[in-house]
Amino acid sequence: MLTNLQNIRLHPLRHFVTNGVQLDVLRLDLLHPVVSGNKWFKLRYYLEDAKKNGKKNIATFGGPYSNHIVATAFAAREAGLKSIGYIRGEEPAAYSPGLLDAMAYGMQLEFLDRNGYAEKARNTVAEEDTYLIPEGGYGIKGAEGAATIVTTADTRSYNHILCACGTGTMLAGLIRGAHPGQQVTGISVLKNNFSIQQEVEALLTEEDHAKHFQVSHDYHFGGYAKHPGPLLDFMKSLWEKEQLPTDIVYTSKLLYAAIDLQKKGCFTQPGKVLIIHSGGLQGNRSLPAGSLPF
Ligand SMILES: *Cc1c(COP(=O)(O)O)cnc(C)c1O
Repeated sequence: MLTNLQNIRLHPLRHFVTNGVQLDVLRLDLLHPVVSGNKWFKLRYYLEDAKKNGKKNIATFGGPYSNHIVATAFAAREAGLKSIGYIRGEEPAAYSPGLLDAMAYGMQLEFLDRNGYAEKARNTVAEEDTYLIPEGGYGIKGAEGAATIVTTADTRSYNHILCACGTGTMLAGLIRGAHPGQQVTGISVLKNNFSIQQEVEALLTEEDHAKHFQVSHDYHFGGYAKHPGPLLDFMKSLWEKEQLPTDIVYTSKLLYAAIDLQKKGCFTQPGKVLIIHSGGLQGNRSLPAGSLPF
């Protein structure tokens, strides 16, 4: 298992300090070019559990552009386990870069139409030697792994922690790992995904329920993976001003939200905000070449 956690560092934003509020980005994207960001943290305890129980195979689920699929393929191989990915939708004529990577890491891919996929994701009973990781890594073990994100740097002095959320597993982990008094905010990248509130709560312990967290639904930019021109312009300017690369699905929307909330005076003043850069940069390969300067 890769353990180059020392690549992770804090990246203070220099151009967006107002009212004494400092925004610092925790660069999980520097962990690894493929299993970048939060996915390694979400997978670590599933893989540990699989090995502890003598499993030989990992099976999991995802869409054709899923970062989770690629990360699982890679991490399973690193752990010496075989992997199979059940992919939502008919087999495409041309595989996405992510699916090609997953195959290159030795993952066996099986394509299922929407109904077949939903059925499989709900009702699969794993064979004896196979360990199932839920879609998107959603589950207690995923949250427990994500809770260790806050241990990769000195995060105690922050008043706020912000992250992007899809399934909400990372958000639940950050709440679990938060120090007393820290407020955790998730920026949902899905449109009107209000059920995330309960899905996050389901991954918390009794004691975490006293902690303060919220999910914002105001920064999805039209929905999952939608990336209108103004978002791409924002990504370019963030790169020019701060040399911070972001991805079109998650972290660009997160950074946009952080700076907008900062402007609106939503953070404790003076204070410090920790923004979790959860990686995903390889997802930008779906843009036409030359769309971004990084
Ligand atoms: C998967 C992913 C997320 C969302 O994580 P969840 O735990 O599903 O909420 C955020 N950022 C990046 C880059 C991701 O790949």
